[in-house]
Amino acid sequence: MLRLTNVKLPLDHSSSALKQEVIRKLELQEGELLDFSVFKRSYDARKSDDIFLIYSLDVELTAPAHKRCLAQFAGNDSVRPSPDMSYKYVADKPANFPQAQQLRPVIIGFGPCGILAALLLAQMGLKPIVIERGQDVRQRTKDTWGLWRDRELNEESNVQYGEGGAGTFSDGKLYTQIKDPKFYGRKVLTEFVKAGAPEEILFVSKPHIGTFKLVKMMENIRAEIIALGGEIRFGEKLAHLNIEDQQVTGLTLNSGEVINTQHVILAIGHSARDTFQSLLESGVYIEAKPFSVGLRIEHPQSVIDKARFGVNAGNEILGAADYKLVHHCQDGRNVYSFCMCPGGTVVAAASEPGKLVINGMSEYSRNERNANSAIVVDINPAQDYPQHPLAGIDLQRQLEEKAFLMGGENYNAPAQLVGDFLAGKASEKIGSVQPSYKPGVTLSDLSQLLPDFAVKALREAIPEFNKQIKGFSMYDAVLTGVETRTSSPVCIKRDKDSFISINTKGLYPAGEGAGYAGGILSAGVDGIKVAEALALDLLGQARGNVIKN
Ligand SMILES: Cc1cc2nc3c(=O)[nH]c(=O)nc-3n(C[C@H](O)[C@H](O)[C@H](O)COP(=O)(O)OP(=O)(O)OC[C@H]3O[C@@H](n4cnc5c(N)ncnc54)[C@H](O)[C@@H]3O)c2cc1C
Repeated sequence: MLRLTNVKLPLDHSSSALKQEVIRKLELQEGELLDFSVFKRSYDARKSDDIFLIYSLDVELTAPAHKRCLAQFAGNDSVRPSPDMSYKYVADKPANFPQAQQLRPVIIGFGPCGILAALLLAQMGLKPIVIERGQDVRQRTKDTWGLWRDRELNEESNVQYGEGGAGTFSDGKLYTQIKDPKFYGRKVLTEFVKAGAPEEILFVSKPHIGTFKLVKMMENIRAEIIALGGEIRFGEKLAHLNIEDQQVTGLTLNSGEVINTQHVILAIGHSARDTFQSLLESGVYIEAKPFSVGLRIEHPQSVIDKARFGVNAGNEILGAADYKLVHHCQDGRNVYSFCMCPGGTVVAAASEPGKLVINGMSEYSRNERNANSAIVVDINPAQDYPQHPLAGIDLQRQLEEKAFLMGGENYNAPAQLVGDFLAGKASEKIGSVQPSYKPGVTLSDLSQLLPDFAVKALREAIPEFNKQIKGFSMYDAVLTGVETRTSSPVCIKRDKDSFISINTKGLYPAGEGAGYAGGILSAGVDGIKVAEALALDLLGQARGNVIKN
């Protein structure tokens, strides 16, 4: 196969145009093209009246044509042999793992990181035990709606906790900017498709699944892990990690049960504040890390579509438009858009009582009236709060508590019109944009919610964003607070080769909570990496430094 990249065609090209373009670009004769498939499809919308599609294709030619093209296009980056992207297991026979039969590896957390780690270990013949504090995805859906509909927070089963992890009620965006030379991202997407995700996630440039489909997929992946001998225990929580001489010896659950093991993958996400505290008390090395705080902004999706796609707004291939914005403030702060959800809703994402935090999600169709995204300001441990590993969590809690109070202490979120926020006055009534947040909003002055530096930065950035997305600073757009869980406020440091904690042997900090991922796909990729590292350790082939004393 040849990988032919950078094939550009107009948005409304005919179904035969792609084939004709392959023949033209590769200068093929009749009968030389046997088959081709789309590897990636993206679009260039920098000029809204001249949007075009860009394809990467895998092309199958007759043997002589293949050979000729390789020679003819040598040195041309857009014609190369297709790389082998199939996943290669580091081990795949249970017999390879003598110790594994005695002490099973344990994975804490069944979010994307824990799921991929568990799946991979199970596929390699190990029989992992997964401990997940939240409930299975069906029960969890009911619990989550309990907050959205009835203002009742379940502290252990909610948007953050439960099967599927934090991304289950989300837009299900599946792209990442991490370097991925071994194509682990492809493995994650392939497993998702096997579990019921639409096949297009393998080839569109910005794939997303939407929350509804994610639920079914989670159940299918769980079934595979169990069929391979894994065990998944919902409603059970890691209470204490048992460590002797800097080696994990097991863990104690909240029920008091002790599980003996020498290998623990810690995939607990960014919201498990009680667990971070417990790990710190057990002596696991943790340090504070930068993250961001801010507000979520809502516009009519039609405004975003028009600004991005002009006359092509509404085109089926383009779908609902997204955006990605960054502004470098005069005082050195950065403001950026985060977790943009086209045609979606703003959701309550609290996991602690008396605290309010929000996020965004969409269905696969992305056909809700509003577009939303977080507009956040970076904060830095060195500059913005005291030097303590968990100081970022204290700051998050303060902001979430304030948001809860400003909302009216009933899980309403404080909200304000963009025009009023920029003018420095509290909003008194909603305008043309209806906020989507459930259970409801309370109009407020959001400058009272965030630290002064963040308010200043947002007031500088929003008008700048309007230069890129016309209508971004429209008076009636709605701001809702507060966004605090953009990424983990801590890093649980691990060795870069063995992926083992720098001071606790047998502990594999992983995924978003440990500071090694920032989204569904990168968390899944990290799950694969730590599962491989653990398998290699069991095989006596651990790479890199193990403990730094
Ligand atoms: C509403 C929302 C929308 C999002 N939208 C997107 C999106 O569209 N695209 C994207 O890429 N990312 C999105 N994200 C972020 C994404 O969900 C996370 O980056 C990703 O889930 C991180 O994966 P993880 O496995 O590292 O952690 P998590 O998904 O957070 O999973 C951690 C799991 O560990 C469990 N756990 C924690 N402590 C314990 C304990 N002590 N014992 C047992 N279990 C424990 C938790 O219950 C949880 O299920 C969204 C997040 C939210 C909240």
